[in-house]
Amino acid sequence: MTTRVWDYLLEYQNERLDVLDAVEKVFNSGQLVLGESVRGFEEEFAAYHGVGHCVGVDNGTNAITLGLQALGVQPGDEVITVSNTAAPTVIAIDNAGATPVFVDVREEDFLMDTTQIEAKITDRTRCLVPVHLYGQCVDMAAIRAIADKHGLSVLEDCAQAHGARQHGKIAGSTGDVAAFSFYPTKVLGAYGDGGAVITPHDNVAAQLRRLRYYGMDEIYYTVQTPAHNSRLDEVQAEILRRKLTRLDTYVAGRQAVARRYEEGLQDTGLRLPATNAGNDHVYYVYVVRHPRRDDIIERLKSYDIHLNISYPWPVHTMSGFAHLAERTGSLPVTEALAGEIFSLPMYPSLSPDQQDKVVHALRQVLSTL
Ligand SMILES: *Cc1c(COP(=O)(O)O)cnc(C)c1O
Repeated sequence: MTTRVWDYLLEYQNERLDVLDAVEKVFNSGQLVLGESVRGFEEEFAAYHGVGHCVGVDNGTNAITLGLQALGVQPGDEVITVSNTAAPTVIAIDNAGATPVFVDVREEDFLMDTTQIEAKITDRTRCLVPVHLYGQCVDMAAIRAIADKHGLSVLEDCAQAHGARQHGKIAGSTGDVAAFSFYPTKVLGAYGDGGAVITPHDNVAAQLRRLRYYGMDEIYYTVQTPAHNSRLDEVQAEILRRKLTRLDTYVAGRQAVARRYEEGLQDTGLRLPATNAGNDHVYYVYVVRHPRRDDIIERLKSYDIHLNISYPWPVHTMSGFAHLAERTGSLPVTEALAGEIFSLPMYPSLSPDQQDKVVHALRQVLSTL
């Protein structure tokens, strides 16, 4: 049996009746777009995070773009983030017309090095975008302090951190805006595309509702500023409402998988993920580090284990971002990581048997390198 980094089919077998019932409910509701299910999901997702507003959108990339626009980010403004992230973080900034500016990540946890931010602030800087990469939070006290000192807003990229916490506070509840993706692989995944933006600010939420709906006020059908069609689909919203009630269970399942890796892969020379004090890690991906990464991945294929890399190319080294200030060589930790990291299979329904198979194969491969 082939083992992959992610698989949802076992989860679907377990949840099939609930998922199909959600689809049936929407199809019978008489309202296929922006109906009861989107409204209900928005209320429940906002309440889960203890923030005032949630606006459902079509995907995580647009959640970031609309979030930036709702915060007033304009073409020509600069937005500080990391290059060690999923490319869509940076694409979303570019789509808003803003210029992405990168700081490096830390050796310890591969997350944004907040001590480098102030050196990158200019009079065009408008917003900080910390990415809670792999499932644990960037130091939000440091981010907030810098943002307040320089009058910047904060958008949290929570696409990999549903349900994560820092000092008990849930990811997404400290920023001016937090953007979520419900792409199927995510910790809270839909059966297709989806996204959401949460915010404590009434005016930002009102602007988000216009931005996702052509720029219209939903009732009056007039447009002041032409915008997007970025609505969350009603069927996905109903499925997500049901999955939201199980989010804490999914997280516990991922944490159990992580604990088994920790037990099974001690003293193998693999660098295992470190969790910072005060963080509850939700393990969207389980990223390990080894200088012989490419050999390990290649040899595991003969065990029918197919791994991937999050992410093999730092965004600032991609040809599409060659116009930005950061050149190859300017973000040394990010660039070193990209050559050495890889992701082990991680999803809540990964069985202990399958996981044992991965651990044994890895131990064997590592002992013969
Ligand atoms: C998945 C992801 C996104 C993009 O979400 P989509 O729903 O695929 O558009 C953005 N940022 C990060 C960190 C992600 O992991």
